Amino acid sequence: MSELTPLSEVGEFGLIRRIKEKVVLQHISTIKGIGDDAAVLEPEEKQLVVTSDMLLEGVHFDLTFCPLKHLGYKAVAVNVSDIAAMNAKPTQITVNIAVGARYTVEAIDELYEGIRLACENYKVDLVGGDTTSSRAGLVISITAIGEVAKGEAALRSGAKVNDLICLTGDIGAAYMGLQVLEREKQAFMADPEMQPQLDKYEYIVGRQLKPEARMDVIHELKEFGIKPTSMIDVSDGLASELMHICSQSGVGATIYRENLPADNQMLEAAMEFNLDPVMCMLNGGEDYELLFTVPLEDYEKLKNLPDVSLIGKITEASDGVNLANKHGQAFPLKAQGWTHF
Ligand code: ADP
Ligand code: MG
Repeated sequence: MSELTPLSEVGEFGLIRRIKEKVVLQHISTIKGIGDDAAVLEPEEKQLVVTSDMLLEGVHFDLTFCPLKHLGYKAVAVNVSDIAAMNAKPTQITVNIAVGARYTVEAIDELYEGIRLACENYKVDLVGGDTTSSRAGLVISITAIGEVAKGEAALRSGAKVNDLICLTGDIGAAYMGLQVLEREKQAFMADPEMQPQLDKYEYIVGRQLKPEARMDVIHELKEFGIKPTSMIDVSDGLASELMHICSQSGVGATIYRENLPADNQMLEAAMEFNLDPVMCMLNGGEDYELLFTVPLEDYEKLKNLPDVSLIGKITEASDGVNLANKHGQAFPLKAQGWTHF
């Protein structure tokens, strides 16, 4: 095995130099990236959107089963997902990290390899950040900047009565992937000789470890001339996100259980873990799919988007937020979401 280099050997500036060396800038709006006191950006005649997300070791990720490269990728993807949920295009990110003494140069290289890959995939420029030490675990905080044409941003507050409720991809899989990973970790700690059995869970584990932001759908919406009246990304679970849209838009909603997009591996794993798959789909988090509403007139246009499911409709606020079964019976939805405190 090759030697590992302690961070102290290269120091903060050495580390920043390593990071900078691998950065390839893609946007003409990036005038100056890493290397000065601040980055210089020159956006076109657009509105800017800005978002931040913070990931803490032991709270948001567990390095026993999350490789650093995946973590770097995911940290960028979740920020890009927030930009996508505004109907905007990401352009730049900054990355702040706090690193414990036990980390090596090679470990940070891995983390940044994931960040670099995500920057390439989502076409964003890494233009700066901050590096400091941590006495606890690893902290990674990313800020993403994006742009959207004036008036085109999709807010949570724009849903109207009779709008269609749309959802990209499938949901509940990232949550089930986490259940599998936690179980394998317990088994590994009990018996380190044991090899994790992850083959049959490849999709759901991938959904947990390597989520993708749905920029593909944002481009499709634009291509087919669909402007969502409201939009949010599904990070805390469908039920909770739908409640955000309803409360901020002052409307109610009915979604149909039969229409919720489920993946087979998720269904099988839920069965194995004795969990109700519908609960996993409603309350499992971290799918990073997009939940949005469109006017009824856009129904035909939606057929051009193969990975979008119609899951329900917006109603009057007084109707509340409901889940209906195939017999037409409706039950009020409760949002569990993620409790951080
Ligand atoms: P300052 O002391 O002015 O904050 P730094 O030495 O922290 O400057 O940063 C120097 C340059 O390196 C800046 O352009 C900063 O944005 C960038 N930088 C610092 N840390 C990181 C990091 N972890 N990832 C990406 N860029 C970074
Ligand atoms: Mg600094």
